[in-house]
Amino acid sequence: MNRTVLISGGGVAGLALAYWLQREGFTTTLIERSPELRSGGQAVDIRGVALDVVKAMGLHDAVYARRTRLGGMSIVDAEGREIERTEERTFSAGRLDSDDIEIFRDDLCGLLLNQVGEHVEYIYGDSITAIQQDANSNAVSFRSHPDRHFDFVIGADGVYSNVRKLVFGSDTSFVKPLGVTMALFTTPNLIDLQSWQLAHREETVGYVIYPSFDQTQLRVGVGFGAEPGEVSRNDVAAQKAMIATKCKHLGGYFPQLLDAMRDTSQFYCGDLAQIHMPGWTQGRVALVGDAGYCASPFSGQGTSLALVGALILAKALAQTPEDFALAFAAYEERMRPFVKLNQELVDMERRGHVPDDQLTAAKYGISLDGLL
Ligand SMILES: Cc1cc2nc3c(=O)[nH]c(=O)nc-3n(C[C@H](O)[C@H](O)[C@H](O)COP(=O)(O)OP(=O)(O)OC[C@H]3O[C@@H](n4cnc5c(N)ncnc54)[C@H](O)[C@@H]3O)c2cc1C
Repeated sequence: MNRTVLISGGGVAGLALAYWLQREGFTTTLIERSPELRSGGQAVDIRGVALDVVKAMGLHDAVYARRTRLGGMSIVDAEGREIERTEERTFSAGRLDSDDIEIFRDDLCGLLLNQVGEHVEYIYGDSITAIQQDANSNAVSFRSHPDRHFDFVIGADGVYSNVRKLVFGSDTSFVKPLGVTMALFTTPNLIDLQSWQLAHREETVGYVIYPSFDQTQLRVGVGFGAEPGEVSRNDVAAQKAMIATKCKHLGGYFPQLLDAMRDTSQFYCGDLAQIHMPGWTQGRVALVGDAGYCASPFSGQGTSLALVGALILAKALAQTPEDFALAFAAYEERMRPFVKLNQELVDMERRGHVPDDQLTAAKYGISLDGLL
């Protein structure tokens, strides 16, 4: 029987889900708010069991070849002067001698999109405005496309998920703010940084800078303490002005980067948060990745959770196609302990240190037996 699925969000979770669903024979449509695949952002990590998932997708070698390849990092003071140097780890990736793969988010999404290929219908530059469920399907309305029906709708639209708001309720019920705002932006490689990371951390503000894969750009990540809502969600000019104010005391090369930030279109800013929900499915709608269980960049596990969650959800739907309630229950049951382990990393990280055994438990804390 032909089953139709609409995925909202073309990030890691949405693209990975599209890959597995089309392989299982579902007719899949993916809608992404951006006019094209989103570029920019910093690097993300693929670790533990998620490496088995990318292997099973036939992507491991390509992902490995595209890894960030950083040689180490310098911790710098507010003037950008080196105060510590190491070739053993970086701030973003942890130990460099582990099997983990660090890759720029847009590079990973590009590889995923390529692997999904033409078997999926893509709608870019649009968004869902309403979802009306009945016993047999979802009637979906869009901002600029005609209404359509789908058997299932999956929200893979990130930490401030649209599908979650439309179907499960307001953010206040599920969003646990972490009191930190993060801005990510891209500039030309104005300081000729080569395969190396720069990190600065002080009480009010911190940053991490690294060159893009081809070394022509810098990817800059700035974090600072802020109350939720202190930065406007949609006003990019106001966001940029706030970053400039928060960073105005930083010297050395940093003023140059702030100047370049004003002109870049590759800019992303948001309040860091975790998502805690009692259930990730309602009727014929489900959530996957950050939309349902964001652990936040502090965990370093968001991308791995998204890759694993997408696999488990797709396989569950494929295993009991006639009984989606059973499939959704199986997805929840298998994923929830893994999510809990990974979300708990963040409290440890913020208290100062994640013990090695806890990190290993989180990276490998789910069995994919029978799925790959
Ligand atoms: C631009 C960007 C940069 C990021 N950079 C980093 C980083 O540097 N480090 C890090 O650890 N994590 C970063 N993340 C988060 C990281 O990608 C996720 O934690 C992880 O990969 C899980 O992915 P996800 O697909 O669940 O969510 P996301 O990666 O957030 O993807 C969600 C997707 O849904 C789309 N979307 C949002 N709203 C709608 C809507 N209404 N309709 C349709 N589509 C919608 C978004 O444009 C996005 O493509 C970034 C996310 C984004 C969007």
